[in-house]
Amino acid sequence: MVQIVKVKKGREFSFLYHHPWVFSGAIQNESSLVLKDGALVKVCDYQNQFLAWGFFNSKSQIRIRLYSFNEMIVPDEAFFHQKIESAIRMRKSILSQNIFDNACRLIFSEADCLSGLVVDKFSNYLSMQFTSLALYLKKEIIVQKLIELIHPKGIYLRTEKGTAEEEGLEIHDELVWGERAKENILISENNLVYELNIETGQKTGFYIDQRENRLAVRKYANHRKCADICSYSGGFSLNLLEGGADFVKIVDISDKALLLAERNIHLNQFNQAEFIRSDAFKFLENQLKDNQFYDLIVLDPPKFTHSRSSSKQAIKGYTQLNTMAMQCMSKGGILVTCSCSGRISKEEFFQAITNAAIISKRNIRLLEQREAAIDHPVNPECPESAYLKCFIYWVE
Ligand code: SAH
Repeated sequence: MVQIVKVKKGREFSFLYHHPWVFSGAIQNESSLVLKDGALVKVCDYQNQFLAWGFFNSKSQIRIRLYSFNEMIVPDEAFFHQKIESAIRMRKSILSQNIFDNACRLIFSEADCLSGLVVDKFSNYLSMQFTSLALYLKKEIIVQKLIELIHPKGIYLRTEKGTAEEEGLEIHDELVWGERAKENILISENNLVYELNIETGQKTGFYIDQRENRLAVRKYANHRKCADICSYSGGFSLNLLEGGADFVKIVDISDKALLLAERNIHLNQFNQAEFIRSDAFKFLENQLKDNQFYDLIVLDPPKFTHSRSSSKQAIKGYTQLNTMAMQCMSKGGILVTCSCSGRISKEEFFQAITNAAIISKRNIRLLEQREAAIDHPVNPECPESAYLKCFIYWVE
């Protein structure tokens, strides 16, 4: 028997608008529920009116993830098959064949009504990530569907840091199907080549979401002295050099990331780059001390917060990082600044940069407001799916 979970009076509105996360504070009858983690539940309002079907997880802040908002459509195997098909159909129709063949995101969690599942395609391999117990329990049917639709050589499972604590999901990286890639995978993006490793790389192996933003910086690069801060495998740097930059300082805290960046710089036959292992804040502090100024700076730090509760701290961090970057910019410089914190809104991020300009006494002009690449679409029912902000400023 499927149990009914009742939502407190006044808390039903976000579910009427199909937001997929039910936090524990919204549940009226939690103490009387006897549910196994991963169980299917029917979510109703305080008057027992149907709201949605979802899956319960007592270990997660998101107690119930909602998948179907139609009482007649229960999220069963056929339901998930259909969602996967529809996500892939969309990528096939909006992406060029070249992007689809090289590197693209096939499934993006809430954006594809599959909360807690990400699948990236790199050449003939798939890299998948579960951040929800409910979907992890359906791993087999998801893998089978991916094999049928994509015919990959191999499918890897990659785990996201924090999933064990946030979701009670103790899983490990492994090859879940097919064969291992014998060496680093080679992909091409915007006519530049990259090596990546699904097993050892960050996240799913490569940050596909910045594809269009990486290309966008090219036009500003000519003859500029640049710094690519939080570079990972050097994607922004490659595009800056392709755009005619004089020189790029490539900065990351991870040795492994810098090694990849170095390989990619050489693979593309560039050489005007220096690799610096450093914390981003420390790097900027040192540049300031040494009177080192840049004509173009890219800031692409990792998520500063996973929750709304620490968003103030995160905003402070963005303000500080951007202040320091502006202080290191020559007159008429270009600042490319990103935030991938879904819990920080575009407006909050914009305000943080405005504050940074005031603190650093620089006049700035917003040139471009960019988002994630189109294979990371935004689901209006879940505004958090608009997580990536990439603003490009002129700094006077
Ligand atoms: N711009 C990259 C993606 C960056 S992801 C691209 O286009 O592919 C964020 C990067 O920040 C990671 O490589 C991570 O190693 C690095 N990082 C994390 N904390 C950092 C810190 N405190 N200082 C510098 N780099 C950091």
